Amino acid sequence: MSDMTENTLQRRGLMLVLSSPSGAGKTTISRLLLEREADLTLSVSATTRKMRPGEIDGKDYFFVSPEKFAEMVKGDELLEHATVFDNRYGTPRAPVEQALSNSRDVLFDIDWQGTQQVSAKAPNDIVRVFILPPSLEELERRLYARAQDSEEVVRGRMAKAADEMSHWAEYDYIIVNNDVEQSVADVQSILRAERLKRDRKPGLDGFVRGLRGA
Ligand code: 5GP
Repeated sequence: MSDMTENTLQRRGLMLVLSSPSGAGKTTISRLLLEREADLTLSVSATTRKMRPGEIDGKDYFFVSPEKFAEMVKGDELLEHATVFDNRYGTPRAPVEQALSNSRDVLFDIDWQGTQQVSAKAPNDIVRVFILPPSLEELERRLYARAQDSEEVVRGRMAKAADEMSHWAEYDYIIVNNDVEQSVADVQSILRAERLKRDRKPGLDGFVRGLRGA
């Protein structure tokens, strides 16, 4: 008789997308999630934007030249790509495919344009979470407090925040980030429920058929 082992129920990893306007707290939430969820791997994007102080090449992003980015697009090496704030961003395809086939879940910090592209390519594997700031005033305060960008950049980001937020209805879950610990716990609940979904348990069908035949 079959046994209800982990192996029987081995599932393909899922793609957990977190989007938000910058300043909503997404980076902190992502960092804490990765610390707490052993089966979760971050998809490290490629970008043409300049490195900020404290960022590490290969960890926060793969910082590449516009020429290198164009080559990656041409070689179909990116799962999705988009232009955000005049810089190009894209998700390298190979590490994602490898993680998913090893039953690891992959965390994506990408914008609404990338989310739409991944949704079209992998509608059954994607789980989309949108993070909202508590208010626009709070968002502005956080962007200024961050002080990594010039005032002009902050103003540009405020203008773009409204645009990014207008896409909230394209997501499966919405979290208002009033409290980082609560938001992380909410994403963990989403992850847990999505991992338990019936259609992520392809081995179960064989298991039940095995029971019948026993
Ligand atoms: P930042 O420059 O502040 O790190 O990121 C700016 C925006 O680009 C964020 O909204 C972030 O989610 C988005 N982004 C980062 N990497 C990617 C990517 O690979 N693809 C897409 N479509 N957006 C990305």
